[in-house]
Amino acid sequence: RKLGVALLGLGGYAKGQIAPALQLTQHCELRGLITGSPDKLPEWQDRYGVADENCYTYDRMEDIADNDAIDIIYVITPTATHRDFAVRAAAAGKHVWCEKPMAMTPAQCQEIIDACTEQGVQLAIGYRMLHEPNTRQLIQLTKDRTYGALTSARSYAGYAGSPPPADYWRGQRDMGGGALYDMGVYTVNGLRYGTQLSPAAVVRATQQRQDRPNGVDLTTTYTLRYPDGMLAEGKTSVVEKYNELHIEAENGWYEMQPMQPYQGVKGKTSDGKVLGPPVPNQQSLQMDDDALAIRNGTQPIAPGSMGKADIAVIRAIIESAETGKEVQIAS
Ligand code: NAD
Repeated sequence: RKLGVALLGLGGYAKGQIAPALQLTQHCELRGLITGSPDKLPEWQDRYGVADENCYTYDRMEDIADNDAIDIIYVITPTATHRDFAVRAAAAGKHVWCEKPMAMTPAQCQEIIDACTEQGVQLAIGYRMLHEPNTRQLIQLTKDRTYGALTSARSYAGYAGSPPPADYWRGQRDMGGGALYDMGVYTVNGLRYGTQLSPAAVVRATQQRQDRPNGVDLTTTYTLRYPDGMLAEGKTSVVEKYNELHIEAENGWYEMQPMQPYQGVKGKTSDGKVLGPPVPNQQSLQMDDDALAIRNGTQPIAPGSMGKADIAVIRAIIESAETGKEVQIAS
């Protein structure tokens, strides 16, 4: 039997990407819906054949504990709400998949990790790039040190959009809006998988913020230093377009460009290798990998500890931008 997934939050990403991807998965399927807007349910149920008894509102979601049809709750709501929803999902005894960025602070991430540990359920973060085959080729080049020791890295992800409005969560700092949380987490996680290293410090950072209370960063730049002294540059924006992950090593370089769109992720190396053919659907690969980890009792590819480590880097980048100082990253 395929594992049953209930989507919590029926917004843009759930509707545009995750629900369609769940039509392609081998090991899990869309079986439940949890929403704060029950008026959305008829259209969703109609489209995906979801039974009435598998539909919940947020205030009744604890009832899902008694529903054996649902194995996994996938939290796809604004970032500042992840902690509460993920902890409630774990408390209901369901495995938890949680969208990126995992939560607002490392302490919130730890609460989610603890809740899942206490309940004996798995926790996976929705880092789709880690499941994308072309990106996995780049990761393998780093693991094998194919081009020798790493010497530097850069990771840029931005899109040329309009500044997010004040009445939408992406335009609100305390909801997890802004370039750094929303897009920058791809650059931080990209440097993690691209180097297979954890940074020791943020050397410097800058943030260009909206000029209003609670206004978000439109562009953030940062420099990380690793324990061996290597430096990496990161840049992220919601108003400037770039998309690449570039790794320099002693005997060559390799990169993904673009590094994180839904389709068309591809890369190349200094000696002319091309990293990969088109990939049909990243999110279905992600969810099948994560469903198999549950089924086999193995560690998921993007565990909560990784999500938490990335949020620690994000907080250190913010602190460095605000103080103008180097900030050590708590491990
Ligand atoms: P969205 O604004 O399109 O949808 C958010 C949904 O959450 C809406 O249905 C909204 O009604 C609901 N919601 C629940 N509690 C809410 C609250 N307190 N305030 C406002 N809305 C609330 O956003 P989205 O693009 O679907 O993003 C949702 C999550 O998915 C975010 O964490 C985002 O980072 C992540 N995401 C991931 C990817 C990816 O490629 N992995 C892509 C897009 C979004």
